[in-house]
Amino acid sequence: MIITLDPGHGQFKNPGVLPGYYEGTRVFMLAYALKRELEKYRDTTVYVTREKLEDDPSLAARGSMAGKRGSRLFISLHTNAASNPEAHGVSVFYSVRRKDSKKLGRLLGEAVVAEMKKKTDITYLRGVMTRTQDDGHGGIEDYYGVIRNSVKYPEVEYSFIIEHGFHTNPTECGYMFRDESLECIARVEAEVIASYFGLEKTGAEDGYTEYTVAPGDTLISIARRYGTTYRVLAEYNGIKDPDLIYDGQIIRIPLYAEISVGDTVRIKSDKNTYYPGGKSFSAWVKNYDYAVKKTADSRGGAVYRNGDRCVLLGERIDRRTGEHGGSIDSWASVDYVTKIRPEK
Ligand SMILES: [Zn+2]
Repeated sequence: MIITLDPGHGQFKNPGVLPGYYEGTRVFMLAYALKRELEKYRDTTVYVTREKLEDDPSLAARGSMAGKRGSRLFISLHTNAASNPEAHGVSVFYSVRRKDSKKLGRLLGEAVVAEMKKKTDITYLRGVMTRTQDDGHGGIEDYYGVIRNSVKYPEVEYSFIIEHGFHTNPTECGYMFRDESLECIARVEAEVIASYFGLEKTGAEDGYTEYTVAPGDTLISIARRYGTTYRVLAEYNGIKDPDLIYDGQIIRIPLYAEISVGDTVRIKSDKNTYYPGGKSFSAWVKNYDYAVKKTADSRGGAVYRNGDRCVLLGERIDRRTGEHGGSIDSWASVDYVTKIRPEK
């Protein structure tokens, strides 16, 4: 199943009532948390309309991205705003052209409310609604551009906007400002989606998800769906000839995004490692593993170098002796590091 997530706006759009809160940044983080949760389910591919934090595509581009990529489900993620700081609660909008999707919209809204309410007390479900406008031909159409443009594609059966509380309300803004809140919301939203569509959980606890090869797939096309490379998949799955895959074969997709502070990682290439001083990295790659020191900036935002999502490597661990020594403080692209599984 293909899903497109749309974190609304751009990086510094729509400041909240608390200093440093931007809707466009927080919903970006929520989208990637939700992508990570959803990809724990078998045959689930998740696209995000903003690859980088600073991306801010048009509403039409966001909606049509969902359709062009064959998504069955499209969700635009937001926090709400009002001039009255007391306004609060969760709203879900669904398409007037997809009346049957109200049920899933309600399940999502109720799950988000139940989760937020654990910490805010005040959050409630304002409604599961359509919002329409005159289509200029005597009929009506969806008011919101992202929904209107996504449902032009018949593949998009479900199209929603979820407003996760109000960033103009101090309590709800405070809630959405915490990283663990986003993780909790992502988990419950993924659970609702998985149970609604009957998605099966895979070996996500081991750090990978599974994809079943369908006719026409190549290792390159599968890698592209999951934002990785065919070389990474070939190596991870022990495939000697990347041109030889067969229908029904299970390909394991490593979940690099699962890397967290304190994990030990191995670097696969010095190509996407941003070593301070620009010295050659090769010896470090071959001889050492590294403890992950940071996965986000001081505001909790994802860190990018030349467009690559990165983690900061800290303490160095000699691969042969296991000795710890020195810290390198170098950023490495998550596509070029592998988490070393702890031995049980
Ligand atoms: Zn918004």
